Amino acid sequence: MRFRPYGNTGIQTSEIGMGGMRFENPDQIEEMAQVVLHAFDKGVNYFDTAPFYCKDKSENIFGVAISEMKKSGKPFYISTKTGVSRGEEVRPQFERSLERLGVDAVDFYHVWCLVRPEQLPERKLNGVLDEFRKLKEEGLVRHICVSTHLGDDQVATMLDQAEGLFEGMLIGLNAINFNFRLKGVRAAAQRGMGVATMNTLGGGMLADHAQHYRYLMREGDESILEPALRFNLSVPEVSVALVGFRNKRDVDTAFEAYEKVELLSDAEMRDFKTGVVESSEDFCTQCNYCRDCPVEIPIVRFMEAYNGNLLDDSQPQSVLNKLRYHWGIPEVEAALAACTECRQCENVCTQHLPILKRFETLRQMERESKAQKAKHT
Ligand code: SF4
Ligand code: SF4
Repeated sequence: MRFRPYGNTGIQTSEIGMGGMRFENPDQIEEMAQVVLHAFDKGVNYFDTAPFYCKDKSENIFGVAISEMKKSGKPFYISTKTGVSRGEEVRPQFERSLERLGVDAVDFYHVWCLVRPEQLPERKLNGVLDEFRKLKEEGLVRHICVSTHLGDDQVATMLDQAEGLFEGMLIGLNAINFNFRLKGVRAAAQRGMGVATMNTLGGGMLADHAQHYRYLMREGDESILEPALRFNLSVPEVSVALVGFRNKRDVDTAFEAYEKVELLSDAEMRDFKTGVVESSEDFCTQCNYCRDCPVEIPIVRFMEAYNGNLLDDSQPQSVLNKLRYHWGIPEVEAALAACTECRQCENVCTQHLPILKRFETLRQMERESKAQKAKHT
């Protein structure tokens, strides 16, 4: 295992970190703790969990593993989060995490799930950041971090609003969304922050549709994991790339791929990015050239979710869930209500996507989903 500095914290994190939201059998706490221990044995020292992951069992699973890991004397770092929006809600949730993890302090505690630009200012106003500061002053939190799904220039703005509070950032980055995310990764690194990347496999999309994404692979690659890890680890600003392990076999598979990874040179990286865009055809590449919508519709979010429909049009609910849970858009119709159909977005779209037609398909999906739900109630 190779290690990289996590920003200016003085900590060296393992290049591969463990994401704790994919345990295959979360009710089997002892068995799943063995998955964590297997990753630890392989050299992983960054472990990411959160309340509510895996039927709310993830922190308990890590707690069992941590009690064993402590005996080894080897360093490890625990990351968890809270997405509460009011200051007074921070400490109760933090204390619950502390208890479940069985630790005296959390290494990386994240302001969680910043999906919309207005959320950090709201939480700041509501005292959330002040509570984080207090936890750090009391020695209960070692490093205050942020976890976000913002993209492009929004990340730098959000970091500036936090006035230097954050020492690290967790952000989704992968071989197909880099257009939307790299600016944010760089903004964090420029501020001396560590960067952990989640969604290395596109939230499962790359693995589930490996055949479609085979254009990411190069000669000698045996699985889609190889180009996925190669891409994230070739971004020099990345401290640690998280991989979600369901079981011990996943750990072994990831390490087989990791051991073969050779980083891309600058020229190879440029060629890789060009190749991705050229191979994307009907897909939104998240370039965000459509960002200047006069009524501020987050078009990239809709079109990225719609990519899922291109890969598999038999799962409309998963597209709607992506919008709701990943992008913070619970109602398609309401979020698109202000669209004037000016077509400015279509005129600038680098992929020449029929954006308005796709909006209509998404609306239709929502109507059908609601009709289905009404039928079953
Ligand atoms: S067509 Fe709608 S979404 Fe596109 S730029 Fe105009 S108002 Fe915005
Ligand atoms: S301009 Fe087109 S490809 Fe780029 S983010 Fe917008 S919809 Fe996607």
